[in-house]
Amino acid sequence: MEKNQLFETVIEDMNEEGEGIGRVNGYTLFVKDALIGDKIRGKVIKIKKSYGYGKLLQILEPSPFRTEPLCPVASPCGGCQLQAMSYERQLQFKENKVRSHLVRIGGFEKETLPMKPIIGMEYTEERGPFRYRNKGQFPFGRGRDGQIIYGFYAGRTHSIIQTEDCFLGSPVNRRVLETIRLFMEEYRISPYDETAHQGLVRHVLIRIGYHTGQIMVCLVINGSQLPYSSVLTERLMEIKGMTSVSINLNCRKTNVILGERIEVLAGLPYITDKIGSLTYRISPQSFYQVNPVQTEKLYEKALEFAGLTGQETVWDLYCGIGTISLFLAQRARQVYGVEIVPAAIKNAKENAALNQIQNAEFFVGKAEEVLPAWHRDHPEETADVIVVDPPRKGCDEALLHTMAQMAPKKIVYVSCNSATLARDLKALCSVGYCLEQVQPVDMFPMGVHVETVVLIQRKDT
Ligand code: SAH
Repeated sequence: MEKNQLFETVIEDMNEEGEGIGRVNGYTLFVKDALIGDKIRGKVIKIKKSYGYGKLLQILEPSPFRTEPLCPVASPCGGCQLQAMSYERQLQFKENKVRSHLVRIGGFEKETLPMKPIIGMEYTEERGPFRYRNKGQFPFGRGRDGQIIYGFYAGRTHSIIQTEDCFLGSPVNRRVLETIRLFMEEYRISPYDETAHQGLVRHVLIRIGYHTGQIMVCLVINGSQLPYSSVLTERLMEIKGMTSVSINLNCRKTNVILGERIEVLAGLPYITDKIGSLTYRISPQSFYQVNPVQTEKLYEKALEFAGLTGQETVWDLYCGIGTISLFLAQRARQVYGVEIVPAAIKNAKENAALNQIQNAEFFVGKAEEVLPAWHRDHPEETADVIVVDPPRKGCDEALLHTMAQMAPKKIVYVSCNSATLARDLKALCSVGYCLEQVQPVDMFPMGVHVETVVLIQRKDT
């Protein structure tokens, strides 16, 4: 194979990023936008030793799983990788991904894997599994003619794909973003230019409470103040539901979206939302699951797996604003939550009070430091259940080690990355735990990521 060579192939599989995998004379090619089952014509664009990348030129015979994407920029935008695939097939893709990680990385037997079918999102004919996201982070920049644009990054790059309306998010986003864009044009406020590290407005974060309709807007700026901010806040506060307008200061040369300082320009420093019967305060820096409908199902599963009777001591590691902790506290004797972001722990404490929950205590810090220190200082105290919900990189080894030492009867592992999940489960199952239940949940329709909740149990229980 060589660069620019034309080829024809049938896509046999898809990789984790949702790219089609085809073979030409035994050589593997990854082709973006090609779906399993497509017969395609393409051009080789990159060659490596054992595989290469192809560009899709023409679909000769479409896959039976193909559907018309709703969004005009579904292909260039990095947000949706699977929009051209039927939702049923997307769910299968995600189940396969979890299964394959557990078998390949975790070393579990495929035939005896205790895995349930994925919990997909319910939808209607008129309204597919779209518009589910309660949060968007929109980069601002300049278009070809120097006009101010906003949108999403293209896959794997930082060029902004102009997006007027994203079908994963709320239609209100557009009104908010247009208000900000027009204000910026009018008052000559510059968007941030990543290469030159110049310009003011980097990102706009919008979050909407699904059950309350409360809206939070946070402008991430490369500076210490937003000129004419009172004009903007006045305009934004006219939007129904607007509850919190703030700026976040981020003057660093970094890919990380949020900086450390937040200043409230109007309204409250948080919005409020509900999950099940509980009420939660969420500030801009705090993590909050993006798909509220599916979150409820995920947490119910976590609660079911924890199997609480009211007598247990439970740890909720990586607890964010205490969402899972407070769910669990209603059925446990005592819950401890640990989270690295101070603003989230502040929310967690407020949330316990807001819901009149007295048996939940929260600690700021790294789970891999707080839990070992606690265990060292309180060797006589046991944990019955430990829940972990780490970011994509999974749990730190020091944490896994302490968890094994504390030897709770049950560990409930909530994961947004089944590869690191499989790695960590392998470690825990080699020190006395047994894989009991695996439940994938589709939190991200149209995207390639998948959430999974797992129950492992101590072998002697
Ligand atoms: N369980 C929560 C949050 C899960 S997201 C929920 O469902 O809402 C993962 C959380 O882990 C984030 O809030 C992140 O800030 C936090 N985090 C990341 N690294 C951490 C670490 N080393 N120790 C503790 N918390 C961490």
